[in-house]
Amino acid sequence: MTTPKKLFIKTYGCQMNVYDSERMAEALGASGYVTTDTPETADMILLNTCHIREKAAEKVYSELGRLKGLKSANPDLKIGVAGCVAQAEGAEILRRQPLVDLVVGPQSYHRLPEMEARARSGEKALDTDFPEEDKFDRLGGRPKASRGPTAFLTVQEGCDKFCAFCVVPYTRGAEVSRPAARILDEARELVDRGVRELTLLGQNVNAYHGAGPDGTWGLARLIRELAKIDGLDRLRYTTSHPNDMEDDLIAAHGDCPELMPYLHLPVQSGSDRILKAMNRKHTAEQYLRLIERIRAARPDILLSGDFIVGFPGETDADFEDTLALVRAVGYGQCYSFKYSPRPGTPAAERDQVDEDVKSDRLARLQALLNAQQEEAQRAMVGRTVGVLFEKPGRMPGQVVGKSDHLQAVHVEAGTDWLGRIAPVEIIAAAPNSLAGRLAT
Ligand code: SF4
Repeated sequence: MTTPKKLFIKTYGCQMNVYDSERMAEALGASGYVTTDTPETADMILLNTCHIREKAAEKVYSELGRLKGLKSANPDLKIGVAGCVAQAEGAEILRRQPLVDLVVGPQSYHRLPEMEARARSGEKALDTDFPEEDKFDRLGGRPKASRGPTAFLTVQEGCDKFCAFCVVPYTRGAEVSRPAARILDEARELVDRGVRELTLLGQNVNAYHGAGPDGTWGLARLIRELAKIDGLDRLRYTTSHPNDMEDDLIAAHGDCPELMPYLHLPVQSGSDRILKAMNRKHTAEQYLRLIERIRAARPDILLSGDFIVGFPGETDADFEDTLALVRAVGYGQCYSFKYSPRPGTPAAERDQVDEDVKSDRLARLQALLNAQQEEAQRAMVGRTVGVLFEKPGRMPGQVVGKSDHLQAVHVEAGTDWLGRIAPVEIIAAAPNSLAGRLAT
């Protein structure tokens, strides 16, 4: 019997990358690989990269530099770069870092077995094309055994919006939606394996427009059909653009109980001038009206967002508009970053805001967002919420799960609760987690 080869994948960035890493491991499983947690024992190391963070490409080059020792110790070790930095840098990675054997963009993971064979024969393998075929299907189509009661399911990839700060339209290509029947099959299979909650993923997921049996389905229709699957109790989706929040999707938040009361809806800035410069194609007022409509459909929804401070041209007055929008919305969670230029995007070429100004604005924004998050956490005390238990807690006799509103909740209970949903009365709140007791 041949010993399986070992694959170590280091994953950076978003849930889409976490999902893709699993798919890469599956694809390379066909070439005799099993995954390992220790890079020292690996026959192949893949860095699944993300382009969102500052100086992302440089960080990948530094990480590759750190792998030199492992490659010297094991000349048969193959090293690959995947993900958005691979897509953006392409052949430049092979030129700058000779220890890299393969570079694969997010649209080409199904070609990994063939690329690995080329790398084993001593060739350098590069694939950063945007092929027409459905990579989701080529990756075997069958979902991997889930490691718990929650799973991610990619329904859409790519984006046509071209926000002036974002590399996604360049690295992930145009919007592509998977056919609805395949998503439903995959969801049923996940449910058979114990999944109770699915998060539908896409870079611009609410632009989903997949082929259905009776015409094109939008995200709302897809959610309603998924909600009919027996045993699939919770649905979420991320990440969305405000301009794609169509009426039927807003309505689904009100009348589809499986769609959880949590929505990540990035706005990035509260200044119309900056929103225009970002090419977001909506105003702050339009966003606020949209939030009103979503809250009218689902009053207890917990909102989350993304903000960029110090976008080129942002003045103090623009920043004050952002603070005003945050006060008007009242978020339960948020992600906020200082603007950093992404090579190849329009905003990278513009006059940049001073770093100290950006840091100061970020600190002020985060103080406000943290205060809102703490308030949202405290507001849960005394309420009884549904919790899906996912794993044992840090303390013995504790289990941890997520509330309907995606807040972490720990409860004194046995591990027989794992994988089950139960009503929990919230008794205490910390900034990032809640404590509760079973209310069954
Ligand atoms: S909508 Fe999102 S993914 Fe698309 S370009 Fe804008 S920020 Fe990037």
